[in-house]
Amino acid sequence: METGYPRLPTDTDNGLLLIISGPSGVGKTTITRGVERAIGDSVFSVSCTTRVKTEADTEGVDYHFVSDEEFNELIEQDAFLEWADVFGKKYGTRRKWVEEQLARGRLVILEIDVKGAAQVKEKMPEAFGIFIMPPSEEVLLGRLQNRKRESAEQIEKRFAEAKTEMEAARSGEVYDKFIINEDLEAAIQESIGTVNAARIASSMRHEH
Ligand code: 5GP
Repeated sequence: METGYPRLPTDTDNGLLLIISGPSGVGKTTITRGVERAIGDSVFSVSCTTRVKTEADTEGVDYHFVSDEEFNELIEQDAFLEWADVFGKKYGTRRKWVEEQLARGRLVILEIDVKGAAQVKEKMPEAFGIFIMPPSEEVLLGRLQNRKRESAEQIEKRFAEAKTEMEAARSGEVYDKFIINEDLEAAIQESIGTVNAARIASSMRHEH
């Protein structure tokens, strides 16, 4: 593949773009990090965001925290593969970094929302999309309440948004696989198996 990046001895033709989405509280960050740990040549795309950094966040690991002005400048420079407004804050994926990692043959993991995923699938139809579902809406509401991260009002908002997101995911054609997180370890294993199979299918397509 002609990529514009100098070829390194460690490069392979195994590059695959993986999208992982799911409503807040469904456990997708833990699942994403589980997939990342299990698959040797995977890399996690650190998004840019204008949301406030919390104590749980590490700059450069979870997100690149930027100002509104910086984010708008990046939009103007066409630096994003996709970006979306989520809960009133902007989140975006850096295009150049993703393209370079794919050219290196890596599994590039995007943990992004449904709107962003639709943009990626349109530009890169070969991307593989996983959507994590809760066992039921009641379980999801319980999980959102239990993590005690937001106020009751914010939880209501996130729950309403979650229902809209699940509906949008189900009715669209962005996701190749829906995984129900009833048991976290089982969901991680199912995700890893799904990704490995998608990777084999994708490398077979490259060969033909
Ligand atoms: P949180 O603020 O809880 O870390 O993330 C809120 C939501 O933003 C999650 O659904 C997450 O998947 C989504 N998100 C994180 N990074 C990006 C990104 O780069 N693009 C898009 N479209 N959504 C993102």
